[in-house]
Amino acid sequence: MEEYNDTHRALVQAFLARSSMTGEELLGVVTAIHGVENPEEPTETTLEVCKLLISRINTALAPFDFEIRSTRDQITRTEIFAFVNINPDTIIQGATHHSADEIAFFRRLLDAMFETNNQYKAEVMAVSSNEALNLNKNPRVQATQATQADGGEDGEQTAQTGEGQGPGLTMKQAQEALEMFVDEEWLRKSRGGWYTLAPRGLLELSYYLQQTYNDEADPEESEDPDTPPIKRIKDCFACREMITVGQRCDKLDCPIRLHDPCAASFFKVNKNGKCPGCKVPWTGKELVGEKAAAKLKRRAGGADRMRSTQSNRRQSGVSRRDSEDEEEEEEETTMVNDDED
Ligand SMILES: [Zn+2]
Ligand SMILES: [Zn+2]
Repeated sequence: MEEYNDTHRALVQAFLARSSMTGEELLGVVTAIHGVENPEEPTETTLEVCKLLISRINTALAPFDFEIRSTRDQITRTEIFAFVNINPDTIIQGATHHSADEIAFFRRLLDAMFETNNQYKAEVMAVSSNEALNLNKNPRVQATQATQADGGEDGEQTAQTGEGQGPGLTMKQAQEALEMFVDEEWLRKSRGGWYTLAPRGLLELSYYLQQTYNDEADPEESEDPDTPPIKRIKDCFACREMITVGQRCDKLDCPIRLHDPCAASFFKVNKNGKCPGCKVPWTGKELVGEKAAAKLKRRAGGADRMRSTQSNRRQSGVSRRDSEDEEEEEEETTMVNDDED
């Protein structure tokens, strides 16, 4: 294996100093590092050279649960590299320090994006500024759950233990936390005032999101084998990366999703213009992202919803195809179960 040298060390330093880099920025940084090391005859740097350096760095970082990963921006398809923490139990801690209340707030933002605002007819996967600010307080129920987890007989600790057991953040603190999440490139704020996950957030959190918001794919492990598993986190059919903004099949039951640029290239090749899954004509008019917000159904409970943990979600086994009323009933059942525990 190639020796781990000063070039690798300097590149890690550069990644630690910023949240993410585009391919172009990465080339600039590596060219500068080579220039310092060898001022007499600067070597030609290509993206391939950079990727070789990164793969050597990743071998060295693996024992520490860190990795440099790349993804493409969902809208521009620009390649983006980021230094990510791959341990799903320590979300958004990374290189910076966040308080327990800020992390609990961040988890509530994720719940709002991927549960509350991710419905059968409206896959918005974003949270409006107002909605985000109003998630500032720790719900009372979450504190109870954390206590239960502490004293649980099976000794199973949830990742939420220790997070968000106090009153939470003030509106001002929530506003500051949101700005910090945007600065650190966890989140992105659209012109319309919606927060979504930024590429760095997607890179680091995609595994956590799948584990948290998708049901077990294996029917053997599901408590109700007749209920199909819910897949709230979906990948683009063309590039296989997670999708939070783009297009969906006109048939709402069909799981096929495409990023806008991916749809453009896909249908340039597949001239029949049909969905690759169910073969209905693809109009590109059914959208994923904030543009689907008009179809959102508001539910009672909002931020205080009970189904905020995976175990609760499993327990309730609610299908998105159920009517809203049934879903509310299911939630009440979950609440009763919680009290009995
Ligand atoms: Zn795609
Ligand atoms: Zn389809």
